[in-house]
Amino acid sequence: MKIYDLHSHSTASDGVLTPTQLIERAAEKNVNVLALTDHDSISGLSEAKSAAEKHQIQLINGVEISTMWENRGIHIVGLNFDETSPKLTALLAQQAELRHQRAKEIGEKLAALGIENAFDGAKALASGEVTRAHYARYLVQIGKVSNDGQAFKRYLSAGKPAYVKSDWVSIPQAIDVIHQAGGLAVLAHPLRYTMTNRWIKRLIGEFKQWGGDGLEIAGCGQTPDQRQLLARWATEYQLLGSLGSDFHFPCAWIELGKSLHITENITPIWTSWE
Ligand code: AMP
Ligand code: MN
Ligand code: MN
Ligand code: MN
Repeated sequence: MKIYDLHSHSTASDGVLTPTQLIERAAEKNVNVLALTDHDSISGLSEAKSAAEKHQIQLINGVEISTMWENRGIHIVGLNFDETSPKLTALLAQQAELRHQRAKEIGEKLAALGIENAFDGAKALASGEVTRAHYARYLVQIGKVSNDGQAFKRYLSAGKPAYVKSDWVSIPQAIDVIHQAGGLAVLAHPLRYTMTNRWIKRLIGEFKQWGGDGLEIAGCGQTPDQRQLLARWATEYQLLGSLGSDFHFPCAWIELGKSLHITENITPIWTSWE
């Protein structure tokens, strides 16, 4: 049985391993098929591809696109697309510009709260665009908070004093661009949005109507009940099953390829490219 992990991050966005280090770790963990899905960026893919060849890992082109739906941030993972697609390149350039603007504004809000030079501090921790995760790490580094979670809770989450809303693309736009690049669109981590199940089902229903292909039905640290619920939704909305650790950095509870499997009666997303 092959081990698949179709959601992971590198230093091209807010992961802490370089694409090469990520692939090396995936090899150690016996992952056979890995998708690198950096936030709004595909700049890590070419390095990952070379490393993957060395370690005989099948690398699937991936990206995690930030979208806006009903005033909330929703993540759409694109898989197995042509990375030279001009439409995709244009969309990612637009998102990068939004990220840059937002990062600057977050820095200004933190300055107004007495935390000077946070943009430069967060930027020093980033190889690509500055994400909120970089701000969180910077706030830990300067001792304002003791961990990333606290940085989000006190400053960076929606409604907190350094939160800045961004005009990300819409879900149908993201799906359309992924499709035009020949890829598949997956609704990422459905249980990680702070929404009631009623709202999540509305989201999944609209995602399906807009042509979405798959649903992430397995991630790290889920309970059997959560897995069952996700599988039921995939069946109900006729979506392919995807799975991924959403690995960002080595830690005790999230690992590449760890406890990821697709429930028997669900069609895995990789049947569309294998
Ligand atoms: P951004 O895409 O710039 O809004 O940054 C969001 C990223 O921050 C996510 O992809 C996570 O990696 C990280 N993140 C979001 N919420 C939390 C949290 N509560 N604790 C730690 N990291 C978080
Ligand atoms: Mn992230
Ligand atoms: Mn995400
Ligand atoms: Mn992710």
